[in-house]
Amino acid sequence: MNFDFPAEDDPRRIEIRQWLEANPNPSFRQLAERGYTAPNWPPPWGLSAGPELVLILDEELERAGIAHPRSKNGIGLNQCGQSLLTWGTEEQRQRFLPPALACEEKWCMLFSEPSGGSDLGNLRTTARRDGDHYVINGQKIWNSHADRSQVGVIIVRTDSSAPKHKGLSVFLLEMQTPGITVRPIIDMTGEENEYNEVLLDNVRVPAVHRLGPEGAGWRIVIEQLQTERQGMTKPGAVWGSGPTARELLDGLIKTGRIKDPLIRDEAAQLYIEGEILRLLTFRHLSNKINGKPAGLEGNIGKMMASPHGQRMSDLAKRSQGVAGMIKNKDVLPLPDKNYGLFSDWDYAYWFSSAATLGVGTQEILKNTIAERVLGLPRDTDPTAGTPYNQVGKQFKAA
Ligand SMILES: Cc1cc2nc3c(=O)[nH]c(=O)nc-3n(C[C@H](O)[C@H](O)[C@H](O)COP(=O)(O)OP(=O)(O)OC[C@H]3O[C@@H](n4cnc5c(N)ncnc54)[C@H](O)[C@@H]3O)c2cc1C
Repeated sequence: MNFDFPAEDDPRRIEIRQWLEANPNPSFRQLAERGYTAPNWPPPWGLSAGPELVLILDEELERAGIAHPRSKNGIGLNQCGQSLLTWGTEEQRQRFLPPALACEEKWCMLFSEPSGGSDLGNLRTTARRDGDHYVINGQKIWNSHADRSQVGVIIVRTDSSAPKHKGLSVFLLEMQTPGITVRPIIDMTGEENEYNEVLLDNVRVPAVHRLGPEGAGWRIVIEQLQTERQGMTKPGAVWGSGPTARELLDGLIKTGRIKDPLIRDEAAQLYIEGEILRLLTFRHLSNKINGKPAGLEGNIGKMMASPHGQRMSDLAKRSQGVAGMIKNKDVLPLPDKNYGLFSDWDYAYWFSSAATLGVGTQEILKNTIAERVLGLPRDTDPTAGTPYNQVGKQFKAA
């Protein structure tokens, strides 16, 4: 690692601090217009900021107690919005980016299907060209926040005669379009639902809302997922966000629970893991600052961070004894920070089991690391080169 943290008297920090003092409680639109929402994006959307300025901005927003727009519209502002800069037309950027930046339109990812989660290339939802539109039919599932989103980034099959990864395309779908039914799936957190299933019945989407060329869908979504995994290599309990092992330890010390030798032993192990994740975050930052391209390390980080978060929220719950059976965050105090839903060990505990599934299961991450980082032989997929509409028939013929 090779970088110094931007100092307290850094002129960039002072300028941001002065603006935030002059504009307390800025709206998301004000933040977007100032370029503070996605500062790393080029103008007019952002400031073409390097990683240091992004870090300063994150710190100053947190210091001023302002929820980051990413917490409101993460999918629009991270992985998917980013791909409009790479793959989108100017017309698409003008239509979709301003409301995404102002958090006036929230986005969701419509990728997984009953037939294809890990094996996304096996998806069955189709889009058929009809004049200047495509007509989409099929079903998506586990789509986070689809019931609260105005825009869905959807991957569908546009060419069934191509091999399974080659005939896919991505569209920007307005969720109010006739033919879309969103059904919430209530999970065991008991809070507002995270997931939904989305049914698509003759949904007409303008051809101009196709993102990138027809058939480029696989490449686009893989880029989006790599970016998403990178963002999860942080020491927080859920998706890299929320309370950290340091904060858990503080709570255990304040309540005296650390005196239990078994708890102390587990807490020490978690502290060590948390520090490794913190250093990995810094290494990622150092690489960015020093102009090194983002590699596949996001897979390693996510593979470590998810079970770490599960162990952390499990210890947080268990250490409370019988009090842990009821929802009461005061039993094990947390710092006064706005972690949204994760500002509470109870929610973090019930949600955390999902973290080793979403954005790539542990097994899929291990396969990717084995094949693409360690250069081990590839997992075999006998259907990979077969035209999708012939898959299955090849085995019957044999
Ligand atoms: C919190 C959360 C949020 C999510 N958000 C979204 C979202 O916003 N949009 C969206 O489209 N989807 C979303 N998903 C769905 C998620 O992407 C899928 O659940 C995930 O890809 C796994 O797919 P699956 O559920 O079909 O399981 P499967 O793919 O059926 O996997 C079942 C089991 O088999 C294992 N397995 C599968 N293939 C292999 C292999 N080749 N080698 C070894 N083991 C294998 C898996 O690791 C897993 O343990 C979300 C899921 C979660 C938990």
